[in-house]
Amino acid sequence: MVERAALSDKRYPIKGMNVWTPYGWKIMRFVDTYIRRELDATGHDEVCFPLLIPETEFKKEKDHIKGFDSEVYWVTHAGLNELDVRLVVRPTSETAMYPMFALWVRSHQDLPLKTYQIVNTFRYETKQTRPFIRVREIHFFESHTCHDSEEDAQRQIEEDLEILRRIMKELCLPYFLLRRTEWDKFPGAHYTVGIDTVMPNYRTLQLGSVHHYRTNFSVPYDITYEDENGEHKHVHQTTYGMSERLLGALISVHGDDDGLVLPPAVAPFQVVIVPILSKKNAEVVTAAAERLRDELTAGGIRVKLDDRDDRPGSKFYDWEIKGVPLRLELGGRDIENNVVTFARRDTSEKGTIGLESLVPGVRLILDTIMHDMEAKAWEFQNSSVRHIESADEIPKEDTAEQRVYSFGWCGCDECGHAFEDAHDIKILGTPYIPEEFEGKCIICGKPTKTKAYAARTM
Ligand code: ZN
Repeated sequence: MVERAALSDKRYPIKGMNVWTPYGWKIMRFVDTYIRRELDATGHDEVCFPLLIPETEFKKEKDHIKGFDSEVYWVTHAGLNELDVRLVVRPTSETAMYPMFALWVRSHQDLPLKTYQIVNTFRYETKQTRPFIRVREIHFFESHTCHDSEEDAQRQIEEDLEILRRIMKELCLPYFLLRRTEWDKFPGAHYTVGIDTVMPNYRTLQLGSVHHYRTNFSVPYDITYEDENGEHKHVHQTTYGMSERLLGALISVHGDDDGLVLPPAVAPFQVVIVPILSKKNAEVVTAAAERLRDELTAGGIRVKLDDRDDRPGSKFYDWEIKGVPLRLELGGRDIENNVVTFARRDTSEKGTIGLESLVPGVRLILDTIMHDMEAKAWEFQNSSVRHIESADEIPKEDTAEQRVYSFGWCGCDECGHAFEDAHDIKILGTPYIPEEFEGKCIICGKPTKTKAYAARTM
């Protein structure tokens, strides 16, 4: 699908570093636009940090370096000279930003410091790479904030999750918010909230994460501020990251056997017009189709008039692969009746729109498509969860019977590891927004009020 819809070209001669081709890049740019809009509106400033990080800075936070050691790229030479201090190609930007934050933050009046950037990050993936899902050069959004207290940092996490809710609405994507286990949290974090979505094969895909660092990074990087009483204190920090996996999820969650199904908010073209010409009416229909295009464009709708010299059926096929949400067909009879025929990509529903109310008519259908796509995706995610009382209910094989599982967990590491090891499955975490539960730990049988989620992951 990625190839047929021309989203990305993976023939570039480095495995896992793919070329963004125009159609895929356009979609990603819409996603980035929503991210920028939300971050700007909540008082974050966009920055752009260097790609290279000195090894000396990279190694300051012990857990962090342990977590990334095996998957970073190193620059060891500059020209013909071997470098005294090797340089890391950023896998994420904590260690690039925090030495600078230590210079920028002076007093409580500099706080909160809220920054973000949209850049490429690099990780040496050793598993099978897949476009948008597991790549070595990653298109990445990351926000980094500093606060004067743990509580203010916690308020930032809540704001991040509100931002997430609004972005995911545009993408019609459902998600779980799960507090990761201690052994799976981000290296160096106090805690991590994972953002996961379910793919059609019931494997989950992590789309991003939000982290509360407390002072875990500000101590080694010495990021301090002077409070009202002249006392020097370490800042509390948070980060929030999401990647091109959002696009991978869009393709997988909404697509069908005929191609992509794009949410109107990120579709490069929201509407495609296909004129249905006959020998006698070609000129009239073409002129009417052009008026249609101009009127929709003036109404703020992204529209493509497909006036290629080709059969309508073959045009339909092309735009279905590309996932254009709404197709308008205009023929001689439509013009006589002062209507245009429409076909929805998400449901194949067909009908007509009166030409006198073209723009509001199209808008209404695009809004309905967005609403229906979101509802359908959430319904699938909700139906993907199976609550289990015994781990024996998990099929051993990766069959169509596989699901996302919820179960009671006492919360101890031993039971967690025992569960993961015995069933070749990952505990995604416990609900960030508490879900009422009373039951028994699926491993040790102790009574518990904690529910955990587990799944096989992409
Ligand atoms: Zn237990």
